[in-house]
Amino acid sequence: MNVEQVKQWMQLYQTEIEKNKDYLSQLDTDIGDGDHGNNMARGVDAVAAGLAKDNPADLAQTFKSIAMSLISKVGGASGPLYGTAFLEMAKAAKDSESDIPTLLQAAADGVAKRGGAKVGDKTMVDVWTPAAQDAKAGQLNAANIDKLVEATKPLRALKGRASYLGERSIGHLDPGAVSTGMLLKTLLQATAK
Ligand code: ADP
Ligand code: MG
Ligand code: MG
Repeated sequence: MNVEQVKQWMQLYQTEIEKNKDYLSQLDTDIGDGDHGNNMARGVDAVAAGLAKDNPADLAQTFKSIAMSLISKVGGASGPLYGTAFLEMAKAAKDSESDIPTLLQAAADGVAKRGGAKVGDKTMVDVWTPAAQDAKAGQLNAANIDKLVEATKPLRALKGRASYLGERSIGHLDPGAVSTGMLLKTLLQATAK
């Protein structure tokens, strides 16, 4: 992955979030406080503005710029988590080019550590962690990402706001898992050749 591809990735993600802003907020209305779409839309707009302003020269600086925008503008639980994902990718990105499995593993580990959630707790970790493994195995594709997102539906939430609902969180997709699925699918699009 190189700087141009990351910029392309963030443009595709911005479009995807704009398109699905109401959907993401509706998912969050079902099992949270209804702000996830708005949080993410604010975040991707800030990322675009930040990248234009920072004009980062290498991959590490690019990821760092993205992280800072997300941390300062998304808020809620998901802001620091997405911010951590990109900060960890910044640390893992050594040269101007870095391989996707390595970056995703660093991001996934960072998110899991920061939020203290495990796979099965019905959070974005349910997508990040197995997706990083899929990437390592050369099996990260849209169908597999969709499966990971869908798999959050029957789960009972054990972390985050949705956990306050207990049993009533069962039968709903986790909003952060859905937005993470979109992030990973736009990554695939941006890096497909
Ligand atoms: P908030 O819940 O503060 O309103 P958002 O609505 O933006 O924040 O984000 C909610 C999403 O954040 C959840 O759907 C879940 O995926 C993720 N999340 C919440 N808490 C955690 C956690 N401890 N670990 C990992 N992900 C979490
Ligand atoms: Mg919310
Ligand atoms: Mg909130």
